[in-house]
Amino acid sequence: MHSLVRPVGGVLVTGASRGIGLATALLMAGRGWRVAVSASRPESLDPARRVFAEAGLQAEFLPLNVEDEATWQEALVVASDRIGPLDALVCNAGISPRRDGKAIPLLETAPEIWRQTLDTNVLGTTNGFVAFARHLRAGGRPGSMVAVSSVAANVGLPFVSSYYAASKAALLGLVRTAAHELGAMGIRVNAVAPGRIDTDMTRAGGAALNENIVPQIALRRLGQPKEVAEVIEFLCSERASYVTGATIDITGGWHPT
Ligand code: NAP
Repeated sequence: MHSLVRPVGGVLVTGASRGIGLATALLMAGRGWRVAVSASRPESLDPARRVFAEAGLQAEFLPLNVEDEATWQEALVVASDRIGPLDALVCNAGISPRRDGKAIPLLETAPEIWRQTLDTNVLGTTNGFVAFARHLRAGGRPGSMVAVSSVAANVGLPFVSSYYAASKAALLGLVRTAAHELGAMGIRVNAVAPGRIDTDMTRAGGAALNENIVPQIALRRLGQPKEVAEVIEFLCSERASYVTGATIDITGGWHPT
């Protein structure tokens, strides 16, 4: 029988060139995890390399377009060759396409936008879960996987697009069901659902939008990427050894209706 308790180990973080992914990779490296940092384009990894160097932290950097199912298995092999066995996967990569800085209304959303969003946010995460579960099974190892959903999965927000909300809701179903299927292999599967976090993604909507949202948040401020990273690291770690199929809200007490 597999033990669900793991020491600090190896982790691959997707979409880690900036924002929540980069904060997660940094925090985990600082806590002693062996970290593989990935993003869709090789050039977008350069700023992350600099941030790690400035922090005096080690990581390996590899391009991985999460939509490309065929490259996942190889990426996991390369990552584990470079940093040692992988114990955790953080599927953070995501997009929120906008038009003129605003969410595109349902009736004006082209099928390509729907497809692109679902490909990156849903298939990208599914590809990772499947490849990582196979990777762990091949090595006879337990592990932990975390998807990054959103508060938008659960509530309708006027400034969030239907394609984005649908993609993030899909992840919650994926996590709950995958947790059941993979639990017997000692693989835990969880999600985080951040509220409004201060990153490029939320800055794209403009400062005025964020200023309007802040009074609705119990803590009266946006979240910082590091505050999401804390919860992700917990879910990856042995401290969460009996947590699976769960979604943890990280909203600062923002409960839009
Ligand atoms: P961000 O600053 O825009 O960063 C997105 C990251 O995803 C980048 O590193 C980007 O790398 C990567 N990415 C995009 N498409 C990719 C692909 N096909 N393959 C691999 N990497 C890809 O976003 P963020 O705010 O940190 O958000 C991170 C996650 O949290 C997303 O899933 C987002 O939906 C979710 N989230 C954010 C908030 C928030 O308030 N910020 C709230 C709820 C949920 P490249 O530049 O290389 O493509």
